[in-house]
Amino acid sequence: MPPALPIYLDNHATTRVDPRVLEAMLPFFTESYGNAASRSHRFGYQAKSAVETARTQVADLLGCSAKEIIWTSGATESNNLAILGAARGQAKRGTHIVTLATEHKAVLDPVEALGSEGFEVQVLPVSGDGTLDLQRLESALRPDTLLVSAMAANNEVGVLHDLAAIGEICRRNGTIFHCDAAQACTIRPLPVRDLGIDLLSLSAHKMYGPKGVGALYVRRGRPKLKLIPLLFGGGHERGMRSGTLDVPGIVGMGAAAVLAREELPRVDQLRTRRDRLFDGIIAALSGVHLNGPPLDNRAANNLNLSFDGIEAEALLMAIRDIAVSTGSACTSATLEPSHVLRALGIEADRAHSSLRFGLGRFNTDEEIDYVIQRVAASVTQLRAMRPLYEDPEDPEPKWPLP
Ligand SMILES: *Cc1c(COP(=O)(O)O)cnc(C)c1O
Repeated sequence: MPPALPIYLDNHATTRVDPRVLEAMLPFFTESYGNAASRSHRFGYQAKSAVETARTQVADLLGCSAKEIIWTSGATESNNLAILGAARGQAKRGTHIVTLATEHKAVLDPVEALGSEGFEVQVLPVSGDGTLDLQRLESALRPDTLLVSAMAANNEVGVLHDLAAIGEICRRNGTIFHCDAAQACTIRPLPVRDLGIDLLSLSAHKMYGPKGVGALYVRRGRPKLKLIPLLFGGGHERGMRSGTLDVPGIVGMGAAAVLAREELPRVDQLRTRRDRLFDGIIAALSGVHLNGPPLDNRAANNLNLSFDGIEAEALLMAIRDIAVSTGSACTSATLEPSHVLRALGIEADRAHSSLRFGLGRFNTDEEIDYVIQRVAASVTQLRAMRPLYEDPEDPEPKWPLP
């Protein structure tokens, strides 16, 4: 049976709300709709109790205490609160901030903003496959290095940094370690204590929960980690994030965290399906390049490919019934190659011919087979329309010249 169209393969951008998550959320719109800060009636208690259950569910996913979870509006806010809040709260301990060139803009932009507040920012380069040379990190750290921010899974090329090693390097140096894990918690375990992580950002809509909700793990205990809040007004979330809580959204994020834990062992199915996609495309086409690390060393749901002689935008048009992103995903408005592909040293031509496939929990083998066939047919057709394209592995042009 042919799969239903369109096919969604853009799970790095956002994920479908799992029906089990939606079901958990619904009563909190129309029945238990109290304000979690209302202490004088049952509506308020019910909301408060649901928020605290969800806090425990997210904490269980990270192996931390519920007291270490702060609700936010998403990973952008979590990253901003972690980076700006920790830097401003601890500026006396040092002013050197280190991050990586391949981080999400929601990390790079607040780090850059610190540069104009008197902090010294250092953005480390990565290797050609996007991995971080730990030696380079170690030698970048100084006695006054306050914070290192490094992500758990890259949203474009799926790099999985060695968090335990980064955590250990930071701990030895007395440096705060922030980790943007928005793409990671459905892909790899994140035991924050074992990994030496002090601050960790999550986003509900990247883990089959609703948009507009996120969480920040803030390590408790010594040495004390003080965050200066971004939002003031009522002192919610132990003063770190004021504002009425999105109770249905938070309940959804809690349910999504429970599912993330339960489904983690099934990540191998995702990987097998991703490998099926890669193998199928490679078997059908020549002149295809894998951007980023080898398949066995990247997020199980990620594939980023460049197609020789192809404009990614043209390919997107040709495969309209498949939802994917181009390599310039985050800056599509400007048509600039993405900063991540540039940081990997990928040339403009190859970056402009790149597609990002992001698989998810709901994809099927039938969908993958359809995608392989559509991509192969469309690339072949587009190349045939470009007589100057020559197959690098086949000196005789496969396509008849006009
Ligand atoms: C999506 C994403 C963000 C932003 O998360 P929002 O919840 O949409 O604000 C930050 N970092 C990474 C790695 C992401 O993939």
